[in-house]
Amino acid sequence: MESKRILATGAAGFLGSHLCDALLAEGNIVVGVDNLCTGQTANLAHLSGEPRFSFIEQDIIRPFDPGKVDFIFNFASPASPTDYTRLGVETLLVGSAGTVNTLDIARKYGAGYLHASTSECYGDPEVHPQVETYWGHVNPVGPRSVYDEAKRFSEAAVMAYHRYYGVDTRIVRIFNTYGPRLQANDGRVISNFMIQALRGEPLTIYGDGSQTRSFCYVSDLIDGILRLSRSCEHLPVNIGNPEEWTILECAREVLAVTGSKSEIVSLPLPIDDPARRRPDIEKARTLLGWEPKIKLREGLGRSLDYFKAFC
Ligand code: NAD
Ligand code: UDP
Repeated sequence: MESKRILATGAAGFLGSHLCDALLAEGNIVVGVDNLCTGQTANLAHLSGEPRFSFIEQDIIRPFDPGKVDFIFNFASPASPTDYTRLGVETLLVGSAGTVNTLDIARKYGAGYLHASTSECYGDPEVHPQVETYWGHVNPVGPRSVYDEAKRFSEAAVMAYHRYYGVDTRIVRIFNTYGPRLQANDGRVISNFMIQALRGEPLTIYGDGSQTRSFCYVSDLIDGILRLSRSCEHLPVNIGNPEEWTILECAREVLAVTGSKSEIVSLPLPIDDPARRRPDIEKARTLLGWEPKIKLREGLGRSLDYFKAFC
């Protein structure tokens, strides 16, 4: 396959660092950009001797020019509810000015472009499972709005650069993804439960644990995203694992995988926490020939050593 020069924003984050690994494994030259607001250079430490990888510490909210690139993966944004409510204005700006800045780079160099969007665009969904044609049910002024509305603006910006300027764009709507390098302290459910279980601390369920999520292992997600990057689809595509779990069931899976005797405790449910979330992946199946392979228990097992390092 022909080697490309690829820009990856959010490269020091959980998904961005796995994406860089996959792009390098395909033989590409990768320029990683990150301002390290939630990511860590430790996620890229193993690439320090790799001549095809370079890193630029840069806030994408400010215009920048990485030189000619053939493709851009725009993954920069705080992603966990804890991070994006702590960094509310920064999240709004990276999902607006930041996205537009990277689209301008794609336009300047005639580069392909893939934007990391989210199931949060569906909000607290009234349609279940969530199909790409559903417009969503989002609170535009609630605490999650800094993330949800920025991501929705980003999707509109990506489509506008495609429609008005002919930029060759793609949008992936990512559903909850987990695996090694998930930030240990960013409050997401899998990292919280794994670390709590391994430390023998109580697992903190928010609300009664009946809310659902559908968890995708990181290697499945990256495979789907690379397939999408090679496709000609410009409208959003869901990538996620359609196996749906209540948060209580998820806690029990974590206890089983870790062999932990931790108790389960209940804490208040955050405002606007979506009641259910499950991707309809028929579009990804037919368009990309993609579906996830790794079940939750196996993926948690593959993540065990990573989380043990924090305990
Ligand atoms: P993460 O926090 O680990 O990574 C995000 C990275 O973006 C971090 O390294 C952070 O420092 C960087 N960043 C944030 N603002 C920036 C800015 N202004 N300039 C440069 N870099 C900046 O989160 P993640 O889980 O890897 O998420 C990556 C992308 O995927 C995000 O866009 C997120 O919205 C999206 N996503 C992730 C999930 C998931 O389950 N992990 C689900 C849906 C969408
Ligand atoms: N959650 C929980 N306990 C935790 C962390 C999260 O019960 O310690 C719940 C949270 O309320 C939500 C689900 O787990 O219903 C997923 O939360 P996460 O922050 O991982 O991502 P979200 O899908 O809400 O963006």
